[in-house]
Order: sequence, then structure tokens, then C-alpha cells
Amino acid sequence: MSKFNITDFQDPNKEEIEVKQLPAYLSPSSLKEWEACPYKFYLKRMSKYKSKIKRSLSTKPAAVGTSFDIYAKSYIDVVRQGPGAKPPNIYQLVSKGVDNTEHREEAIRAGQGLLKVYLQTAGAELHDYFPIKTDLDFTKVVEGVPIRGIIDFELCNGLVCDWKTRGYGSAPKSPTPGWVKKWTNGKLVKKPHPRYRESFDTIHPDWASQVTIYNFGRGHKVGDPLMVGIDELSMRHVAVPEDIGLETVQVTQVRSPISEEFQVKLMNRLQKAWEDINNGIIQNPSPTPARCFSYRQLCEASDYCNMFRSNTELVFKNKSKKTPSNSNIMEMFGDFNKFKR
Ligand code: SF4
Repeated sequence: MSKFNITDFQDPNKEEIEVKQLPAYLSPSSLKEWEACPYKFYLKRMSKYKSKIKRSLSTKPAAVGTSFDIYAKSYIDVVRQGPGAKPPNIYQLVSKGVDNTEHREEAIRAGQGLLKVYLQTAGAELHDYFPIKTDLDFTKVVEGVPIRGIIDFELCNGLVCDWKTRGYGSAPKSPTPGWVKKWTNGKLVKKPHPRYRESFDTIHPDWASQVTIYNFGRGHKVGDPLMVGIDELSMRHVAVPEDIGLETVQVTQVRSPISEEFQVKLMNRLQKAWEDINNGIIQNPSPTPARCFSYRQLCEASDYCNMFRSNTELVFKNKSKKTPSNSNIMEMFGDFNKFKR
């Protein structure tokens, strides 16, 4: 076990922290977590509390997204195997993938409904690309950084693609700009989106980071011309699985370039994060509502984050639930600001 100094550039009084284990790699989600709150990354992945911190249970929209991924991957597997292939036990697979039992049944039905829509629209084109590649997960050291990831699918022309589902049980969602093809009411719209030639990193930097890191991990050379794919299912007024249909789900395909500049900056971000992690340069936690709550779920490491606990202790005493409403969160942070040192 080694000891590092926690670095806080505003505060010269450094606190010693213990590192139990260094992470073995970075992934798109771990880089995102590191950049959002290095201290949370430390607590969850490097500290002695690591094994005690439970992952937040998936929200309903996330459970539906996972279920759709499982259905779609299983579909591809069955088609690849050809006639006589044994369909997988979806219930078992979704039970494994969706940790939140409360949403599991609903996610299974919604995932099935979404697959049906997908296969009548963008998914029908998958057949043109068979055999789609099978090695979906990878770990590779790229420019000094070990990168790990599991992609959704890769077409036989080498295009790495990711599925996105948005809008289940929430406000209606419009497709992300930049699509090259769109199906509305099950019909293919003739014109692409006006921004379809733009680098996708100017449209959705977060998704662009994810798919670009996947490409790095799959052998793409940083800075070379790169195209990425997103197949998105955007829902409107879908509250229950029975609402899913061609009228309520728009399906779009993004097939866009990623700029050389973005690729280089992203590689620099990965290298800086990896260097800081390995040198124990971990900034002090700095709680804010946006950082500590995501989809109204409290940061799963907050029990071990003294800065968060000490400043919100008085408020927590009066709260029994750990998933407060938005107004509770703002109230909590209103009080938090009062008590902030
Ligand atoms: S509670 Fe907030 S500040 Fe503390 S580790 Fe979690 S996200 Fe970071």
C-alpha cells in the first residue's frame, strides 16, 4: 500500500491519502468520472473503501438502454450463426445486465419493443454488413495509456458504432443533430440533417470522446482520418413499453468524422489523467449539485467523502431518502452554501 499527497492547488495544507490499488486501465466512463471528480474516482477505484462502495442502481431509462443493447447484440449473434442457431435466454442476460430488479421486467419488454422498431428501420441495414465483427471487448496500450472498452458493434468496413436510446419515461427527445439518415413514423426521410458533414465532436463532444476512445483501443492511429457511427432511438411520449412503436420512436444514424484536433486533445486528456492517477495527484473534492447528483441519484461514494458529509451533515439528518427530488437537492445545497467554510 502506498501513500500519496492529495493535491489542492488552492490549499497548501495537503492531506495524506492512502492508495490501496492503482487502476489497470482507463475506459471512456472512467475518464469521464476522473474528469468530473478525481476524488470520487480515487474513492471508488483506488482507496481502501473501494470494495465497500456499491454501484448506483441503474435508473429506468438506463435499464431500458441496457436491455435494448442485449437484445440487439443477441439478434446479431443469432443472424451470424445462421439457420438452426439457438436463441439466447434474454431474460437471463438482462437479469445479469440490469442490476435494478425494480426495473428489470419493464426493461425486458421495452428492450424488445425497441429492437422491433430498430429492425424495421436502421437495423434492417445491418444485414448489408454481415459478418459484423465479433470481438467486442478489448484492452490495448495506446501511447502509454492502457485503454479498455466494450463496443456495441463494428461493421465489416471497420466503422465502430454505438447504440443510444433516449427519452424512455422522460421528457420527449429529438434526435441528436448531424444524422445522415432518419426514420420518422417508420419512413426514411430523404434529406440528411444540415450538419451531417460536421465533425461530430462539435455536436456531441461526450459521445465523440466515447467512440473515439473505442477507436484508439481498436488500433486507430491518433490523428488519422476517423469516421464514427451512432444509431440513436429517440422516444417521444413513451411512458411504458406498450407506447413503443414506429410512431413514437425516431431512429437516426450518425456517420460523421472526428477532427484531428479533437483526437489529439483527447489523447492528451487520457495521458494527463493516467499520469496524475499514477503519481497520486488527486485534487480535493469540491461538492456541487451538478457533480454530486446525477439523474437525482447521490454520488455512490458520498459516504466516504468527508468534504461532502461535513458540509451537508445537518441537512442529511432530516432526510431519510438518498434520492431526493430536485428541490431537495437545491435545498440541500442552499444549506450547504450556508455551512461552507
Ligand atoms: S460527493 Fe461529490 S465531491 Fe464528494 S466524491 Fe462524490 S462527487 Fe466528488
